Amino acid sequence: MRYAVDLGGTHIRIAAAESGCNWLHQHRARHEGRMTPEEFIEILAGLTRQWSGGAAEAIGVSVAAVVDENGKLFGAENLGWKDVPLRRLLEEAFSCPAVVETDVFCGAVFEAQEGAAKEAGSALYIAIGTGVGHAFILNGQVWRGSQRGANAFGHLVTDPQGSRCYCGNRGCMCTIASGLAQAGTAPSDAPLEALGLAIGNAITLIEPERIILAGGALNQPWFDLAALAELLPRFSYPAARQPQLVRSSAADPNLCGALFLSMEKS
Ligand SMILES: [Zn+2]
Repeated sequence: MRYAVDLGGTHIRIAAAESGCNWLHQHRARHEGRMTPEEFIEILAGLTRQWSGGAAEAIGVSVAAVVDENGKLFGAENLGWKDVPLRRLLEEAFSCPAVVETDVFCGAVFEAQEGAAKEAGSALYIAIGTGVGHAFILNGQVWRGSQRGANAFGHLVTDPQGSRCYCGNRGCMCTIASGLAQAGTAPSDAPLEALGLAIGNAITLIEPERIILAGGALNQPWFDLAALAELLPRFSYPAARQPQLVRSSAADPNLCGALFLSMEKS
């Protein structure tokens, strides 16, 4: 049995499958950002005992953090984890191959292999949840940046006079258009405009064939896919071709991508 984990800022999801992302078992719980790495491994160990007699063939973990090529977390603010060698801890605890990857890169791996980017030569994947992340996909490969940090779409500055972002800069898009920024606020045009401005600039820069949108904030009242598509020509270079703008077809692209990455490893 293969295990996939989506370790988010407030929730943890764990699923198991024999092949592909056809989940045979699923577990979801809130952790409120107070779970230690040791507690996480204990939860996973409990589920492997319950679901597959304690054995795991491989483990893929999607996490809201910057992760190095060895599966070490540099800082997961929502979890309060810093410099945690999570892949090594998992491989020692379960005696099987493990992969740990930034959540938005996992989602993009799913889109490249089985989702909306499968038939496109180039695509920009944007996940709008509590924060906003992205990954660029070219010919089936996910570009992660020179130091694995090319994932922070929400920190494109769309209003230099805007409010201070937790990253230290001022006027980042995610201070206006994100699940966190818009939670409980009255609907207005501002978040869609900020998102349109950021995406319009991305079109000018890379002219992708498709833009794939995912994440829970797409269900908030401010988000409107058709209105967003109408905004984009205003914010992008007129000679750049407008991309197809689509929603992710998967309910859980991060989990599926983490599973696919574990399959590449084992
Ligand atoms: Zn920021």
